[in-house]
This record gives sequence, structure tokens and C-alpha cells, in this order.
Amino acid sequence: MKGHVTELPDFPVYLSLGSNIGNRLYYLQSAVEKLKSHPKIQIQCTSHIYETDPLYIKNQGDYLNCVVQIRTDLQCKILLEEVQKIEEELGRIRNNVRFAPRTIDIDIIFYGNQIINQENLQVPHKRYSERRFVLVPLNEIAPELVCPKTHKYVNQMLAICQDNSTVRLYKDQKETGFE
Ligand code: AMP
Repeated sequence: MKGHVTELPDFPVYLSLGSNIGNRLYYLQSAVEKLKSHPKIQIQCTSHIYETDPLYIKNQGDYLNCVVQIRTDLQCKILLEEVQKIEEELGRIRNNVRFAPRTIDIDIIFYGNQIINQENLQVPHKRYSERRFVLVPLNEIAPELVCPKTHKYVNQMLAICQDNSTVRLYKDQKETGFE
């Protein structure tokens, strides 16, 4: 048990995790373990794992995705640096190709009710509402969360989402340790 847990701010932060290269399950599980062992992050809830069609660049492997609810006293900008460190530790090579395959991708979807519009950080995440691979797992754990930008519930955002790509529960759920 981490000593500082009771001092953490009481607003939830949502992260979206995805992997589509190599041992995808290993990368997702390892990223969750690294978040768990971070001294300033407490994981509160994890969605099931979903297998999803790649968006944007179609000729790449399917993704495994999940959404994690955390509490943290890291400022959002620092949290971004910390999740980028985890991406690097798990072998993610950053190149300039957008939407390219990756061992692990961690995006900040919501940081409480904050709206951030900086060059390197936009929260709520700029494209979350056009992605079923984010909305389906997010809706599983937080259907009545209100988006601070649109003022709509997550379940409403999912209902109006135009993306019709496949998002299915990952078949080996029992082996994931996420249940
Ligand atoms: P990606 O290739 O999807 O991992 O995009 C990474 C880039 O998106 C990084 O350079 C971040 O600075 C930027 N970015 C902007 N907003 C966010 C956010 N909410 N979560 C994660 N990365 C973000």
C-alpha cells in the first residue's frame, strides 16, 4: 500500500492504452504494472481488454486496447512525461509517422474536468470522441462521466460516434488478469 494514497486529489484521470506489435498482451499488462508501481499513481479501475481494428492506416495488425482510471497528484504535463517514459521503457520507438504501429501507446483522455490546449498536450484528448476503441472501454467503466468539453455523458458520446470499426472483447480475457 502506498503511503500517500489518502492525499491524492479526488478527481479521476483516464488513460487509454493500446498495442499492436509483438506480444500485445504483455505490453498492455506491463504498462498497467508500471503505472501501478509508480509512487504517485493509484490505479482505481481497469476496463476489460478489447481487440480492435486499426484506424487511419488499415494495413497493420489489430490492436489490443483498454482504459484505466487512475488518481494522481502529478500535474497533467508531468503525467504525460511519465507515461512517455513507460512507452520508451516498453520499447516504443518514436518516429514521425502518425498512427504507425506501436508496442504501446498511452494517451491521457481526461484529467478531471481540466481543459488543456497546449502545443504538446490537449485534454480531453483531441480525437477520443472519434474512436470506438477508446469510447467502448471508457463506457464500460465510466458511462456517466461527463466530458468537460461537450458536456455530454460518455454513453452519449459513444451513441453518436461515427466510427463503425470493430471493437470486440479480447477472447483470452481470463489470461489477462484484468477481470
Ligand atoms: P501518439 O503518437 O498518439 O502517442 O501522440 C503522441 C503525441 O501526442 C505526443 O507528442 C504528445 O505530446 C501529444 N499529445 C497531445 N495531447 C495528448 C494527450 N492528451 N495524451 C497523450 N499525448 C498527447
